Amino acid sequence: MEDCLFCSIVKGDIPSTKVYEDDVCLAFRDINPLAPTHILVIPKEHIASCAELGEEHEALIGHIFTVIAKLSKELGLKDGFRVVSNSGIDAGQTVGHLHFHVLAGKPMNAKMV
Ligand code: AMP
Ligand code: ZN
Repeated sequence: MEDCLFCSIVKGDIPSTKVYEDDVCLAFRDINPLAPTHILVIPKEHIASCAELGEEHEALIGHIFTVIAKLSKELGLKDGFRVVSNSGIDAGQTVGHLHFHVLAGKPMNAKMV
């Protein structure tokens, strides 16, 4: 996908601080962290948002969550973490490539909105 920031990160055209990579997904540190640990986990394939997911993506999404669980152990997020995926304008999505925020390292407000 041309002109997609996260596709450019996947290709290596834009640098990122990678914490995990395999054939289908990539995890890197958010450039503007909202918590002491703020990782973005993305599929390498361009998918615009959660709204575009179909049955063909079920294995991919399952894999991404398994990676998140693995990362939470490797990064020592023993006190918990939050996974957020913004989809669309009302949710405040600013990058149109599916991504999962993994936030940790401080107590977070239980309210989501
Ligand atoms: P969202 O607002 O949910 O679409 O999240 C997009 C996230 O991407 C924001 O938290 C940004 O700080 C982050 N971001 C934008 N550009 C970069 C970049 N070049 N490297 C890492 N994170 C980025
Ligand atoms: Zn993309």
